[in-house]
Amino acid sequence: MTQPAAHSPGAHPDSVEFLVIGAGPTGLGAAARLEQRGIDYLVVDSADRIGGAAAAHTDDRGFTWSVAGASGAQWHAIADRLVDVDRLRLGMRVAHVDLARRTAIFADGRAISYRFCVSSAPLPTALSWAGARDLGTGLRAHRVLAVGAGFRGRVPAGLASALDAEHAPWARLVDSSELAPAGHWSVLAELRFPGRDDIDTARAVSSVLGALEAYGAAPTPAVTTWTREFSPACPEPSDDRDELLRTIDARLTARGFFSRGLLGGWRPEASDLGGAYRQGGEAVEAAIAGTAEAAYWVGASQPETESAA
Ligand SMILES: Cc1cc2nc3c(=O)[nH]c(=O)nc-3n(C[C@H](O)[C@H](O)[C@H](O)COP(=O)(O)OP(=O)(O)OC[C@H]3O[C@@H](n4cnc5c(N)ncnc54)[C@H](O)[C@@H]3O)c2cc1C
Repeated sequence: MTQPAAHSPGAHPDSVEFLVIGAGPTGLGAAARLEQRGIDYLVVDSADRIGGAAAAHTDDRGFTWSVAGASGAQWHAIADRLVDVDRLRLGMRVAHVDLARRTAIFADGRAISYRFCVSSAPLPTALSWAGARDLGTGLRAHRVLAVGAGFRGRVPAGLASALDAEHAPWARLVDSSELAPAGHWSVLAELRFPGRDDIDTARAVSSVLGALEAYGAAPTPAVTTWTREFSPACPEPSDDRDELLRTIDARLTARGFFSRGLLGGWRPEASDLGGAYRQGGEAVEAAIAGTAEAAYWVGASQPETESAA
């Protein structure tokens, strides 16, 4: 195998050794490893900030809503210390990837060729780029709506049973009061919906508020509510998922394309924030050295790794 090209900083490149799609935990994990190894790369993200889904939003009443249990600050710290910011392009959406030609086309029409690509774009998108959408039809997903609710006063005693509730509209309820302004408390609920259903946000909010009240966890009316829908859908395990993923992965990695992370990898049990970060680094090693990817395939038998060069 030829050695990967070394860094060649300069203007916007026509080609790179590694194209990294997404500046969330997966993409930053890949970038940090590439930086450490001194290999040429470019990270692009359609969003205008780094961190991916791990982000916090502060509303006009001073409540902060932090999904994915993170403020986003840790990803800025990682990017500042471990990634070359000149190799990071925000606001650049990859519209299409020609996997056979190893070329990505951006929404503004520019193109870039690469030798390897580590992508955290949703897997169904990657499959449509690969002309293999049918391979993903057996994968199942759900949508997530995060609902924040802020209240005046102290955290009520009833919140403890609401947090442990088994029959509630939320899949998870988190006490986020430490991010509420002084003299207030707050919760963040995550509601799951079948992948294709439209979400009635107003109804979802009132179901959360109603359930909190029923648990004695909302003795006063909410002073603020906040919602954020996570779309496209989040993957969920199914019986034949890993077998399907191995087939898909063999097809994509044979063309130097590593689809990883929460939405790119479809193994949520391996894609919490730390797992996603590790997956990014390991995808780089797998691409250049054929190393097995322990983080991505955790809990599943690993496929035979072949050179993707
Ligand atoms: C509701 C919710 C709650 C969660 N809670 C937790 C938690 O408590 N703890 C925990 O550890 N994890 C949690 N997670 C999981 C965590 O968010 C993920 O593990 C992590 O965000 C995965 O990182 P990623 O880089 O793979 O993907 P993402 O964070 O989704 O980042 C992918 C990036 O790729 C970019 N992108 C996608 N397509 C393109 C394209 N075509 N062109 C350019 N850029 C593109 C996106 O803009 C995005 O920035 C939660 C996730 C959700 C949805």
